[in-house]
Amino acid sequence: MNLQNINYVNLFKDKLDNSKSIALMSHKDPDGDCLGSLLGFGHILQTNGKSIKMYLEGEIPFNFRFLPDISKIFNKPDNDIHDLVLVLDCSDITRIGSMVDVFNNSKKSVCIDHHVSNDGFCDLDIIESDYSSTGELVYEICKHFGYLIDKEAATNIYAAILTDTGKFIYNNTSSQTMRNTAELIDKGINFSKIAENIYGNEDKNVFLIKNRIMSEVEFYHDGKVSLAPITKAILDDYGVSLKDVDGIVESIRDIEGVMVSCVLKEISFKNTKVSLRSKGEIDVSAISVRYNGGGHERAAGFNLESDINESKKIIVEQLRKQMED
Ligand code: AMP
Ligand code: MN
Ligand code: MN
Repeated sequence: MNLQNINYVNLFKDKLDNSKSIALMSHKDPDGDCLGSLLGFGHILQTNGKSIKMYLEGEIPFNFRFLPDISKIFNKPDNDIHDLVLVLDCSDITRIGSMVDVFNNSKKSVCIDHHVSNDGFCDLDIIESDYSSTGELVYEICKHFGYLIDKEAATNIYAAILTDTGKFIYNNTSSQTMRNTAELIDKGINFSKIAENIYGNEDKNVFLIKNRIMSEVEFYHDGKVSLAPITKAILDDYGVSLKDVDGIVESIRDIEGVMVSCVLKEISFKNTKVSLRSKGEIDVSAISVRYNGGGHERAAGFNLESDINESKKIIVEQLRKQMED
């Protein structure tokens, strides 16, 4: 166990023991860690006798709809009053979107997260930035509490770790991550099927649009920066939605000479979502924090109130400065 804030974790157990009704939530635009940690923790609490309700804003990507308990997620806020709200994998409160109403109605709040950029917005914040994923953190906390962790929970935790470690290749993968993963496998999960569901089932149009976008990748600063814009127009051409085109930013990072990759997603006329990935020398979370975003050294994101072309200029210039430092 690598938990740094063990006192906080023990305080968290007191809060759990004193709560009858527990809300769990994670960030909008769900990814694998968001879903896996939410569903895994929700399932563990339920099998250990707690009354829980899971909330999440945003459509669930097609390739994660196989996860156990996925149909139990509520995608709209309600007026329920919970004794405790658990916020997972969120570095600031805006990430929970409209679920903030449920958050505000809850009597106490605890955040469990692994983002270095987390700004500590709950009554108790368990932030462990050395962890590969919030899913792995949840797993260790639950083990520490002596909770029963069954195959369904393990499937969700595995999906969280698998996706946030880039299939166990990023440097957030520790030897402890591997030991935890081995324990999950011993619980009988079908790990090859999980990976096949997440990575091996791409919709044809999604495959085609990704290849089209990648074939038009732009390079800046002597090939050290790769950049791909995704406009609404191209999505309409292929009949694909924005939530389905994740993964491009990783693919264009993996090009020789590229230090930072960037994908710009046109959300609306004056709203562009920026995703950044780094191979290590450049800390992209330092850039995203400047724009009220968040993330990690090697993976970060934020939104700009500019159109996609203006955003491109801003980010290319920002990266030039960062590279000269
Ligand atoms: P993405 O590029 O959306 O896959 O996100 C990369 C990393 O940055 C993830 O760890 C996200 O949690 C974080 N991130 C992305 N967008 C934001 C945002 N608007 N605010 C805070 N953190 C973000
Ligand atoms: Mn996440
Ligand atoms: Mn995460």
